[in-house]
Amino acid sequence: MHAIDVTTILILTAANLATVSVALPLIMGRGISRAARLAQLSLLLQTLGWIFIIASEAVSGTWMDPVLSVCSVGSAAAANVAMYGSLQEWLGPRPWKRLLIVLAVALPIGYGLVFEHYSLRVAFANFVLAAQLLVVSRAALWPQFKAPLPWRTLIALCYLVVAAFTVGRGVLGGFFPELYPNFAAPHPINIGAQVAANITLALTTVAVLVAWRDEADAKLREQIATDSLTGLLNRHGWDARAPAMFDQARRHNTPLALIMLDLDHFKRINDTRGHEVGDQVLRLFSTVLLTHRRSSDLAARIGGEEFALLLPHTDRASALLIEQRLRAALKMTCDLQPELTVDYSAGLALLQPTDDSLTTFMVRADTGLYLAKSQGRGRLQVVG
Ligand code: GH3
Ligand code: MG
Ligand code: MG
Repeated sequence: MHAIDVTTILILTAANLATVSVALPLIMGRGISRAARLAQLSLLLQTLGWIFIIASEAVSGTWMDPVLSVCSVGSAAAANVAMYGSLQEWLGPRPWKRLLIVLAVALPIGYGLVFEHYSLRVAFANFVLAAQLLVVSRAALWPQFKAPLPWRTLIALCYLVVAAFTVGRGVLGGFFPELYPNFAAPHPINIGAQVAANITLALTTVAVLVAWRDEADAKLREQIATDSLTGLLNRHGWDARAPAMFDQARRHNTPLALIMLDLDHFKRINDTRGHEVGDQVLRLFSTVLLTHRRSSDLAARIGGEEFALLLPHTDRASALLIEQRLRAALKMTCDLQPELTVDYSAGLALLQPTDDSLTTFMVRADTGLYLAKSQGRGRLQVVG
């Protein structure tokens, strides 16, 4: 059997990466998220890294060698920063960001400074790269389950495997340079590293595409749950989220308050000043509602000019206070924009053991709302 030729695998890796780097932007098209663009950039930078290595091997011994080699480690380091950035965009803040950037800056500088010392530079470059890869791997798996795990696990595993081989290369170059005199050395670890680079490239590409699909799914789900006029949850979003909050309060026996709100004489606004002004009033009211709810509260537009506010861990006194603040804020806002003046009636229900479903609970709050309307509007009526 012929010995496996590392240079050939290296060229194949670079060719595969270059193909993916060109194909991904074409497939994914324009108007993609920053996360997706950073993932594409990471693959492009990896491609550049390998191309610089191939080029530096070709000009080995000349003045071009150190220049191209520094560019190569610099590209690889930047590729890891880009992948980390992509994960951060997709999953929220990730740990060890500063460390990653310090390593990315230190890598090309340190590598350039010790270029004349083969063992030192190979060990340094590979250990720093491996540390970076581990940071990216950890970033992929870091909790905060905003996204499903499979593609994150895949990325984490890919980066872990490459990190392990990179450490192997560092040990070879640093302590056994005779076994690893150059990048094309046919040592099993070096061959394994190059094969792993190819396989993990394919898997990382798949993971990026799945992450991108998940992102589109999440965006669509959010769109379906959001009322386009006001930005509040719509009925669908309410039905998707409120029952879980209701069940949780019942299970843990914690207080839960529900306020149903309905704008007063809203039809009159539409009839006298037009639908457009009516829409503006709806938006104004929703903005006040959004800015005055706490982050744990659920605010939804569940009908034309009917809204619901679900307040977890909120007893009667707190709910009354919240409603008073809301009314005062609405009044202040309307004082500033008298042409959009509006008032509302509301019913407040507090969770009782007899509320066996969210529907029962909502019916009770609606009863309060109906009473508030019949008693002259512009007020809150408490039930239970
Ligand atoms: P009440 O004080 O008894 O609640 O009287 P009201 O006029 O507010 O209630 P009614 O249910 O009679 O009228 C609600 C109106 O809300 C009727 C409908 O045309 C209007 N509406 C529903 N959705 C929208 C919307 O998206 N934009 C606008 N501008 N109007 C809407
Ligand atoms: Mg109304
Ligand atoms: Mg109504």
